[in-house]
Amino acid sequence: MKNVSLKGNSLVLTDEAALTPNLRKTSHRAHALQSFPSHKPLLNPPSINPQRPSKSNYPMSHPMAEEEEGKMAKQLGGGAASAEWGSRGEISVKIDSRVLLCRICSQPLKPPIFKCEAGHVLCSRCLEKLHEVGYVLKLGVFCVLCCKNTSYCRCIEIEEFIDAVKVPCSNKIYGCSEFIKYFQKEKHESGCTHAPCYCPENGCTFVRPTGSLLNHFVDVHGWSPTYFRYNKPLKISMALDCRFTLLLGEDQSMFLLTNTLTDIGHALTVVCVRPHQSEPSYSCNISSTCSVSGSKAEGRLVFQKDPLVSSSSLLAGVQMGKFFLLVPPELVDESSGELIIHIRIDRLA
Ligand SMILES: [Zn+2]
Ligand SMILES: [Zn+2]
Ligand SMILES: [Zn+2]
Ligand SMILES: [Zn+2]
Repeated sequence: MKNVSLKGNSLVLTDEAALTPNLRKTSHRAHALQSFPSHKPLLNPPSINPQRPSKSNYPMSHPMAEEEEGKMAKQLGGGAASAEWGSRGEISVKIDSRVLLCRICSQPLKPPIFKCEAGHVLCSRCLEKLHEVGYVLKLGVFCVLCCKNTSYCRCIEIEEFIDAVKVPCSNKIYGCSEFIKYFQKEKHESGCTHAPCYCPENGCTFVRPTGSLLNHFVDVHGWSPTYFRYNKPLKISMALDCRFTLLLGEDQSMFLLTNTLTDIGHALTVVCVRPHQSEPSYSCNISSTCSVSGSKAEGRLVFQKDPLVSSSSLLAGVQMGKFFLLVPPELVDESSGELIIHIRIDRLA
């Protein structure tokens, strides 16, 4: 496909046969425009070839077919649909995405798809529920849009259309080049590796996938990552006023140890910076002891275990969550200006 520019709800159709009746009408209108030019002269009048064979005689990628279709698209620019033929018979179109949704539950339609006698299209889940409700209420099979009894059959033509509609991943601007069937878009994006994470620094608006975010932390904010091995304890000295400590696992997973000063001490929490809660999972132990000899608190230990480190894209900054270690002031050596903590992150099987 060439020169695809897709914005908003623009779509790519993979199958010419899947064009909706409306789009077909538009296509016919284009032929009509060529055969019967209006009295108002066109800015770029098409060259009319009386011997022009019908489109169906062209192979999909025939250069002449592409040229002719390109002219049509120009003529139709700004109309109901504009089309540009690509090398595999794909075109980009603008479409009201509601036609891709179930009329009852408004979820993306996916095969098998059904329709009532009046042509109201619905998904298999809604049809199942209608059958159940109709049985319980002794109403028989009915359509909530027709408000009367009806029968349903498979809607193969819409299934073919739905199956042919592909849309770009929402993370296209972050480097994902996937085109996904509309009804699989949410599933793809819930695991898309190009999904972005957010810089948690105050006032910073940097948003990129994790690889770029790591470079940003180092290059822009000067954070130097602490590399660690899973299942091994790690001792960290952090400045009392240091908000974030960047930890990098042996599998390049990125963790942030966040230090939040509260009225009752320093609250420490660990989060895995990644766009989705995905595998592998991690647990985390954090502890701190009083290091000031002779202090009343000497020998005292605070300890916290987070059985499942939360993953976050940091869209809303670092959230404290259920598990955090509170280091009370008496365990903090103000003279050194540092917090000494021991941390161990385990990778769960
Ligand atoms: Zn439905
Ligand atoms: Zn109906
Ligand atoms: Zn993607
Ligand atoms: Zn930043």
